[in-house]
Amino acid sequence: MTGFLAWLRGGRPFPYPRHTAGSAMAMFYFAGGLTILLILLLPHPATLDIGVMLVIGAVSPLLGLAILRLRFRLATSAYPWLLVVGTGIVTVLMATAGSRSASGSFSFFYTWIVIYALLFFSPVSAAAQVGVAAAAYLTVWVSLDPSETDIGSTLEPVILVSVIGTTGLVVRMLSRAREVSEIDSLTGVANRRGLDRLLDSAVEETTAAQRTLVVAMIDIDHFKSINDMRGHAAGDQVLECCTRAWRPLLRLGDSLARFGGDEFVAVLPGCSRSDAEDILERLRVAAPDDITCSVGAALWQPGDTVSMLVGRADVALYQAKNLGRNRLAWAFIA
Ligand code: GH3
Ligand code: MG
Repeated sequence: MTGFLAWLRGGRPFPYPRHTAGSAMAMFYFAGGLTILLILLLPHPATLDIGVMLVIGAVSPLLGLAILRLRFRLATSAYPWLLVVGTGIVTVLMATAGSRSASGSFSFFYTWIVIYALLFFSPVSAAAQVGVAAAAYLTVWVSLDPSETDIGSTLEPVILVSVIGTTGLVVRMLSRAREVSEIDSLTGVANRRGLDRLLDSAVEETTAAQRTLVVAMIDIDHFKSINDMRGHAAGDQVLECCTRAWRPLLRLGDSLARFGGDEFVAVLPGCSRSDAEDILERLRVAAPDDITCSVGAALWQPGDTVSMLVGRADVALYQAKNLGRNRLAWAFIA
């Protein structure tokens, strides 16, 4: 339930990395613009508005290139607006096509809008995007000349809905299947496979955007004795309770993963050392009942690879344990 609510809020347990969302958006703008230019070069219906198509054909690829360049820096909140702009462009193409059949052909670009929304946005946000696209499509479609008797014009809306609907569902199923394969079934946080991907993309983004990044290892103290004294099921319950207590304390964009056993990793991108200290101290004291945990944290240094960063956090965790447990220790920076 908590996972579902987080997902509904937009913070999916495993959002695709921000720059992947940027690359996909850039590709749609780039390919869309080039397709329009190609249509102009090939024999095309005389009803098309050449001026509008030239502008869209020139501006879309440029917008795509700009998004590609800025993909590590663009705020996540920019993407819904960029997709609405995409919907606007498709709608303008439909509205200025000059015939039902040409409009119908352009309407297939809405497939990209739906696929993108289903892959990258929360269900509410995706539904809003699909709703905007459907309203735009219907508005243009009902305003077109109904006297046109081209047989294709009656088939296109049905085929369009069928193609977009089924493609969207398959894409959603595949992306959900991948998300599930990266979730730890006991705690609902990322598993080791998910963590590897999260860390790779966090380090890549940090390197490209010259931002900060903190990685912390969190390990429950004397967890083995909980298992030994209260049984394995009680131990499982402690792991679940800890992650349930920790998850709401993270910021949107932070991630929590199970490294293995009673060891977890928090990935805090764009976080200064002092902010991370606050967050990690809150995590440390949030463990339920009499459970305590130790935390080892490392601040990303230019040139750090994932294994160097995780290695330093692991050494810091070792220090926290050696210093008496139930504390936060920072990795030494050479
Ligand atoms: P320390 O304070 O040094 O961290 O000691 P510890 O007892 O927490 O650490 P140790 O690594 O010795 O024990 C971890 C235990 O976690 C050992 C293993 O049996 C248990 N464990 C690993 N995975 C699971 C799991 O999924 N469920 C339960 N209940 N126990 C698990
Ligand atoms: Mg432990």
